[in-house]
Amino acid sequence: MIDQNPHQSILIRGGRVIDPASGLDAACDVAITGGTIAAIAPDLPAAGVDEIIDAAGMIVCPGLIDPHVHLREPGGEAQETIESGTRAALAGGFTTVCSMPNTLPPPDTACRVEDLLERIQATAHCRVFPVAAASVNRNGEHLNDIASLVKAGAVAISDDGDALWPDELMEAALKACRSADVAFMQHCQDPTMTVGSAMNEGAVSMRLGLTGWPDVAESSVIERDASMAIGVGARYHAQHVSAAKSIPILAAAREQSEHITAEASPHHLNLTEDACDGYDTSAKVNPPLRTNADMLAIREAVAHGVITVLATDHAPHTGDAKQLPFDQAPFGLIGLESALPLYARALVHTGLIGWPKLIEHMTINPARLCNLDRLGLGALAVGGPADVTVINPDWEWPFNADQCAGLSVNSPFMGWDLKGRAVAVVVNGRICMTWHKSGGLIA
Ligand SMILES: [Zn+2]
Repeated sequence: MIDQNPHQSILIRGGRVIDPASGLDAACDVAITGGTIAAIAPDLPAAGVDEIIDAAGMIVCPGLIDPHVHLREPGGEAQETIESGTRAALAGGFTTVCSMPNTLPPPDTACRVEDLLERIQATAHCRVFPVAAASVNRNGEHLNDIASLVKAGAVAISDDGDALWPDELMEAALKACRSADVAFMQHCQDPTMTVGSAMNEGAVSMRLGLTGWPDVAESSVIERDASMAIGVGARYHAQHVSAAKSIPILAAAREQSEHITAEASPHHLNLTEDACDGYDTSAKVNPPLRTNADMLAIREAVAHGVITVLATDHAPHTGDAKQLPFDQAPFGLIGLESALPLYARALVHTGLIGWPKLIEHMTINPARLCNLDRLGLGALAVGGPADVTVINPDWEWPFNADQCAGLSVNSPFMGWDLKGRAVAVVVNGRICMTWHKSGGLIA
């Protein structure tokens, strides 16, 4: 559990401090006392400080937030638990994650949300905020009492894993989310167009003899939802955008309403359908990896502010499950440990955006999406909570199973050489993770 006894005092010294929420980007020290940020200024005194983090050459930013992870608990503990998944989060530099509701049972009543919060309280290594299910048993037929879910502690509503599909149900969900002042997060997949679909519809699916998944199965859902959300005045968030075809629809919707947002994942920013070649089930993911043109369009959408949130969709599966034939293997790949350098690879190392924009998409923007900015998360402010991530942007490292802190290692990025890594994480004023060249240490 998160230690409620923070260090007396920590000084993070000599880094480049980037806080997109306030526009700060300067060489500064950050002083932490008793769980809150005490000062952000150059040359703060080190005398009497309990712990000093040398951040020379490093980026110091608000604790990273991932608004889309699958912790699998309850019901999928062989794949991941709240304990193991939050270890993976710390290893990747995250101080806060939002857990998706496709668990068994799903958090679809206030009681179940409260049970989940008790589990989080008992075992999580970082902050975890639940996203509750939109429909009863997450089966898309009857709407849950969204107001009571939010009152119990849910920070957003989603049936992730499946789209909330019937028009009237979706409209009612959007109205309830508006009343409760939370975002609806949609898994954008037209179920009628994707029966038996295993990968992107195109030349590769034809060659492999696998059922294709058209891009319009995503864009048509976003088109319907966005116009509905604008009509209702609700906050609507498109999860894990995969298709170029979705981008102009999102851009037009965002022209009309600031309440329409979207996220991109490390895999849709870095991989194409070619990764499925050889029936590689580690690249089987929902929505599927698409073409090079789609991948580049997602990157451009981030560069141009159409997509403003980065989210891993961390989806652990056991090795046994992923050894099934491609059309039977489960969808999903892990993301927490490798996310930061993969975002940097697609967006910063290509020159599309700089580190401040990347950090904005990983801190204050997801915080606002989930109302966590109201708790002071996603920003570095004197007097605010001391959640801080220290990043070495130049560290090159090989991604392999040894680098994973969660229970599962299903990732098509295994064996890749990555650049950039979180080297220290402070949660609630306590140093919870440090990486050194000799290896990682989660306190
Ligand atoms: Zn999803």
